[in-house]
Amino acid sequence: MESLEKDILDSEGGEIVYATNVVRIDPYQQSTSLVQGAPDVGAIDHGWVVQAHSEGEEPYAVLARNLINSSGLSSTLVLNAFLPQEKRIPMYYARGSYASYHGPGVSSVKHLIYPCPHTGPNAHAFESLGTHLTLDLQGKIRFGPDIEWIDPPASDIKGNEEDSDFWTKLLVPDESRLHDMHQAVRNYLPGVAFDGLQPDYVGIRPKLIPPGGGFQDFSIRSHYPDVDAARERRGAMVSLLGIESPGLTSTLAIAEMVVEDVLRLEA
Ligand SMILES: Cc1cc2nc3c(=O)[nH]c(=O)nc-3n(C[C@H](O)[C@H](O)[C@H](O)COP(=O)(O)OP(=O)(O)OC[C@H]3O[C@@H](n4cnc5c(N)ncnc54)[C@H](O)[C@@H]3O)c2cc1C
Repeated sequence: MESLEKDILDSEGGEIVYATNVVRIDPYQQSTSLVQGAPDVGAIDHGWVVQAHSEGEEPYAVLARNLINSSGLSSTLVLNAFLPQEKRIPMYYARGSYASYHGPGVSSVKHLIYPCPHTGPNAHAFESLGTHLTLDLQGKIRFGPDIEWIDPPASDIKGNEEDSDFWTKLLVPDESRLHDMHQAVRNYLPGVAFDGLQPDYVGIRPKLIPPGGGFQDFSIRSHYPDVDAARERRGAMVSLLGIESPGLTSTLAIAEMVVEDVLRLEA
């Protein structure tokens, strides 16, 4: 990460802004009157006005010719805010918990263990990799992630205080999942003891399909500020949607694809 950060900072005009929320995105064509606070637009005739807010500072706007929306759980919200109702993309959320383990039944373990996928009726082969065994860099054992579908508040993922409280609470590991995780693990390591499991870590997957919806790969979609720009492929906003596991492992490959295969087609 430090190396990538350095590459950006060393590049011409490269800048990284931390702790800043994008609060609104609007398509821009040169004829559009600018949102207050947007900079002089120079040569850009199609693009996106991005309004952002850093804590304790005045909101501001930037104009981008191209925009890459890689906002994870919020990625469809950013998009849906300007898409017409019939083109909006639904998102579903699946919590994944890990439990650390210290106890009997694992003395012969030397590497990661993945359970065979469930493929019967109501099975989750496409929903998660199953509660597998992972080893951290110190060689400690962790089981997970399991899968638990969640219903976010109807309003907005980053909406009011109540909503953010909902997400914060969900990210706190708790004991509610341990029993089911123990059952899942005993299918491939029968000697694992319940008492050795401790809640450890939680994450939330951005899902493009609901429970039982089958397989959905990563989705990389381009949107354009207007029909002319779309025809001429100018001013693309590229959205990375449903980037769940192995999204982290695939980060550099996805970035390469966005730059080489999607943005390269720009006029
Ligand atoms: C439990 C679990 C286990 C996983 N295990 C693995 C694994 O073993 N291997 C693997 O390869 N992958 C794994 N993944 C998947 C991996 O974490 C994701 O694929 C990856 O993080 C997706 O990257 P992203 O950049 O698309 O989204 P994120 O990592 O979610 O990053 C999005 C960023 O955008 C920010 N953001 C959101 N909205 C806004 C806004 N309005 N303004 C500004 N910033 C905003 C967020 O704060 C966040 O920092 C796992 C995921 C989970 C949930």
